[in-house]
Order: sequence, then C-alpha cells, then structure tokens
Amino acid sequence: MADGRWAITVHGGACRIPAALEAPRREGCVAALEAGRMILERGGSALDAVKTAVCLLEDDPLFNAGRGSVANADGEVEMDAGIMDGATLDVGAVACVRFLYNPVEAAHAMLREPSVLLVGAGAEAFARSSGIAESMEAMRPATAGESDHDTVGCVARDRAGHVAAATSTGGLAGTLAGRVGDAPLPGCGFYAEDGIGAVSLSGDGEAIARTLLAARVMRALETTGASAAATTIYEPMARLGAEAGVILLDRDGAIGIAHNSPHFAAAYAREGMSAVSDIVWKDHHAL
Ligand code: ASP
Repeated sequence: MADGRWAITVHGGACRIPAALEAPRREGCVAALEAGRMILERGGSALDAVKTAVCLLEDDPLFNAGRGSVANADGEVEMDAGIMDGATLDVGAVACVRFLYNPVEAAHAMLREPSVLLVGAGAEAFARSSGIAESMEAMRPATAGESDHDTVGCVARDRAGHVAAATSTGGLAGTLAGRVGDAPLPGCGFYAEDGIGAVSLSGDGEAIARTLLAARVMRALETTGASAAATTIYEPMARLGAEAGVILLDRDGAIGIAHNSPHFAAAYAREGMSAVSDIVWKDHHAL
C-alpha cells in the first residue's frame, strides 16, 4: 500500500449551477484541491489534506457549507460535517451546529473521542473546549451562490497508502429546524477504509441516508473499479427519484466521479498528473 502515490478529489456539490457561478465554483474547488495536494505532495496525511480542503470550501461563501450555508425553515443556519480516518476507522461528526466557522474542524477534533457524533449545543461546547474558533453570533445564511444542493467534500490517499474522507454542509434550504442530513452520517454521506477506498457524496440527504449510499459505493469498491463503483449511485437514486453526486478513490488512488444531478462541481489531481483537472459536469457524467 505504501507505494508513495497520492491522489485527491474535491466536490462543491451536486446541484444546478447558474452559468454565472460556474467559473467561481470551479475556482473554489481548485483552490481547495491545491491546498490538499500540497499537503500530500510533501508527504502529509490524507486526513490533514481532506480537513484542509474542506475548511477552505467552508470559508468560501459560494458553497453551501460554513460561511455559505443556506437557511432552514426558520431562517437559521444549521450545519453538519463528518470526517473519517481510513487507517483507524475513527469517525468524527457534528450536526446542527450554528456558531462554528468550520464545522469540519470540530468533526476532526472528535476523531479520537469515543463518541462518533455530537449535535447542537453539545457539539459547540466540545468545539470550544478544543479551542476551535467560534462566531459570537449564530452564522447568518448566505444569499450569494445559493442553490438547491452544494455541500462540499474531499477524499484523499496519502503516500503511505492511507485514505480519508470529509463532507460538510449547510443542509437543504428550507428544511425543519433540527433536521440532520446524510453529511455527518458515516456510510451515508461519507466513508473511508484503508485497503478499500474513500467516498464523499452530495445530494438529497434523506435519499442518500435511506439507501446507505456511501456504504453501497464502498461495497462496490471491494469488487469493481473506481469508475464502475461511482455509477452504483444511479440505480438507488433513480428508484427514489432523487439526485446525488459522488467522488471516490479506490485503495490505489484511482478516481471515480458520477452524478445524476444537473451539475456537479469537482476537481481532482494525483501523482504524475501535470495539472489539476477541474470540471463542472452536466447531465449524468461519470469518470
Ligand atoms: N446532502 C446534503 C443534505 O441533505 C445536501 C447537499 O448535498 O447539498 O444535507
């Protein structure tokens, strides 16, 4: 496994992307990818790479996570995030947090804790005690760049052969206060396991959770290649009339991307590629 080959891919959500926002979304994905790529190139860990990339996407108001989070039915922001270390199967996740700039940092701080998921005020108190930056006021909903879904995520493989995954979201606009989607649920919105691969999803959270979509993709990765594993999202999403997009890496760092949403913003890079590749894919593409 420790063959020295790194790989990384990020996504900026499965959604409809207005033409005017295509370039900025692309640029946001590439900036996050570059930050993660630099960590991996220098021999850093997949876990650091996914956390850093997702933090940057949370800081970009054009994505529905962190500062760009959309409003729920009460006009409030509630954010969810999850991260997983494929080497240890440690998972950290937070849900319904309102005061954190970077929910993925709180999820990362949870990784070595016995609990997998903390919600609301408990999650915020844990973040505070871990020294994670908190806003004095609840985060305000973004207006710029708002669209149906545009959760963010990243999967990476480091030179030591370890994989990691992270997903972060402001959820679906207009949902009930207290609603938790797939993003902080392992096996639903993300998963990572050394020797198999890593996956991060975006899309209709309830459908992703009901079909354990990340778990299905991981199971497919055990027996098929990265591209074929990515397309396993199509059947369950079609059955529920839902939309999703997936990024994944297999154990060797081969990349798979697929979506059935109108658009999917993503970027990827791996050892030996001369440049990063960025895309806003339209209409059911798969890599
Ligand atoms: N999956 C996210 C959720 O349901 C939304 C998204 O992907 O944009 O919370």
